[in-house]
Amino acid sequence: MPTTSPKTITVTQPYLPPLADFVSYLEQIWDSKILTNGGPLHQRLEAELCRYLGVDHISLFANGTLGLVTALQALRITGEVITTPYSFVATAHALLWNGIKPVFADIDRRTFNLDPERIEAAITPQTAAIMPVHCYGRPCDVEAIQRIADNYNLRVIYDAAHAFGVRRQDGSILKHGDLSVLSFHATKVFTTFEGGAIVSPDAKTKLRIDQLKNFGYVDETVVVAPGINGKMSEVGAAMGLLQLTHIDQALSRRREIDSIYRVALDGVTGIRCVERAGSTTTDNCAYFPILVEPSYPLARDQLQQRLKEHNILTRRYFYPLISEFPMYRGLPSAHRNNLPTATQIAQQVLCLPIYTNLQTEDVQRVVEVIRSA
Ligand SMILES: *Cc1c(COP(=O)(O)O)cnc(C)c1O
Repeated sequence: MPTTSPKTITVTQPYLPPLADFVSYLEQIWDSKILTNGGPLHQRLEAELCRYLGVDHISLFANGTLGLVTALQALRITGEVITTPYSFVATAHALLWNGIKPVFADIDRRTFNLDPERIEAAITPQTAAIMPVHCYGRPCDVEAIQRIADNYNLRVIYDAAHAFGVRRQDGSILKHGDLSVLSFHATKVFTTFEGGAIVSPDAKTKLRIDQLKNFGYVDETVVVAPGINGKMSEVGAAMGLLQLTHIDQALSRRREIDSIYRVALDGVTGIRCVERAGSTTTDNCAYFPILVEPSYPLARDQLQQRLKEHNILTRRYFYPLISEFPMYRGLPSAHRNNLPTATQIAQQVLCLPIYTNLQTEDVQRVVEVIRSA
């Protein structure tokens, strides 16, 4: 134990631009007296996000979970949906909220994303769609998944909650599948306090989603669906506009921190850094997961505890697996024998602190504790 306790290093921290800049947006809101319902800041954020992300149509939401629930509604998905157990619980909850049966398939041991072969093996006559997650912002095998979807006539809805700004040579990762859903929660790389968005391929789909997030209203007197209230307020949109002005800087600092960790942890027996997505992918370094393997002197939970004693907070993303929670564990696909890779990785994974304002000496403090075990 250190003699004086050093400052706490959290696992994540939002990037907060100067408060005065936010206040000036608040003044605009006070002047316009428009607080929500697709106001001017909301419209501007949708347009600027399309430009920044390189997509054609985006619908803002009050949070990512409402985005997932609405995406499934928009495509009228029923029956079974194949998804990953290795994610945040909202991925599968969105299915239950739609009365859909989740079918869990195992993940690839290198990418931690759904393994296309396991997706194909899980298809039944009831399967309507696939809901993969770009875990940690690293792209799924979108080509293989699309081939399966085309062969079996399935829809693909990506939970892209981690994938803000992720691009490949062919452009934004958010253009793949039928719809992609982002989260702008405070813990994500781009935040609107709470928030989210759906990326649509065409104006017609965006229109349907915009109706669904506003109670199903088409105009003052016409309601076409049992929609929900999924609208983002002007305050959230203001935060988004402000975040956008700093996002490139924020992402490039994340990439720097990622590289510092990789170099510093290289050669530590039993610690495996999860591979980066490859040189043709622009990733966002949203998380820094490591695997604590049996050859490391401490078990994963012991290492987490050791770091905590040094005032360093980490998260076990994703442990427990979604399939372990009581509302899922009775499903046949939730059985551990069906999910050996996800089960093993969930036992070993630890996400280390990474965020834009994390200082290099703090990264070194984290590494020191890991190396000294
Ligand atoms: C954060 C997250 C969500 C939920 O997003 P909210 O904006 O918090 O509702 C869904 N899926 C994944 C993978 C997430 O990480």
